[in-house]
Amino acid sequence: MPEGPEVECTRLSLQAIFNKKIKQIQFTNLSQKYKKYRFKQKELDIFEDKKIKTIERKGKFLMWIFNFEKVILNHLGMSGKWIFVEENEENPSHAKVIIKFHELKQKVVFDDVRNFGQFRVFESYETILRHDPIRKIGIDGLALPFPIDTFLTELKRSNYINREIGDILLDQKLVAGIGNIYRSEALFQAKINPTKLVENLSPNERKKLGHAISDTLHRALESQGSSFNIQPFQTPFREEGSAQQWHKVYGKQDQLCQVCETEIVAIKNKGRRIFFCPKCQK
Ligand SMILES: [Zn+2]
Repeated sequence: MPEGPEVECTRLSLQAIFNKKIKQIQFTNLSQKYKKYRFKQKELDIFEDKKIKTIERKGKFLMWIFNFEKVILNHLGMSGKWIFVEENEENPSHAKVIIKFHELKQKVVFDDVRNFGQFRVFESYETILRHDPIRKIGIDGLALPFPIDTFLTELKRSNYINREIGDILLDQKLVAGIGNIYRSEALFQAKINPTKLVENLSPNERKKLGHAISDTLHRALESQGSSFNIQPFQTPFREEGSAQQWHKVYGKQDQLCQVCETEIVAIKNKGRRIFFCPKCQK
């Protein structure tokens, strides 16, 4: 799943379409198979001749801001990506949304193989901020400087203290933008065992974890994300990321830890896996 760094890479590439007059935003025929997009074309027709002013990122969400009041909330889901497609080129096979511009030969297409993505019109910026997942989103893991004091305060919340640190790191209300990959990598960098209860983390471990989260996400952003599975992440310019080259534990079950040569193990967590070194991470 695209995590904060991959979503941010997408956002940065989409700057190419800012302030370009929109010819049409269109839900594809394929998208009409799915309830979330069905019969919604009318909502998109009013974007004709409007311009995208900017795209903001909230955790793993993109908020598309236009030169009028409507706002679009976009989530890449498990496998969604935006791709620049030439006018005469065929659309990607799982295209759900197509945006064409008056001044650009290329169109931009939302290709979403597994169909967990979202592209939804909201009345205004204020309505989107009141919308549930957005309203509750916590610290941005890519914020600079990382708000370490807020992170330390949030960790003390009563609903976290009796839980395993590996479990709560995916909670976007704590730090937004962390997903399955960077959770394992940040815990490895901080040398913290994912099964450790939050209440048993020392003040030093808490601080180290906050900084490890920030470091890991920024390193991933510099590497243009992680691209390694069957539907690898690509930026809208079809560039793949290289963060997988420095992953230390993610996906490396049974391989030897690069630091201590102990076998990396994986544990199940809510249907996902957390990878860690049982010797380095206490
Ligand atoms: Zn190790």
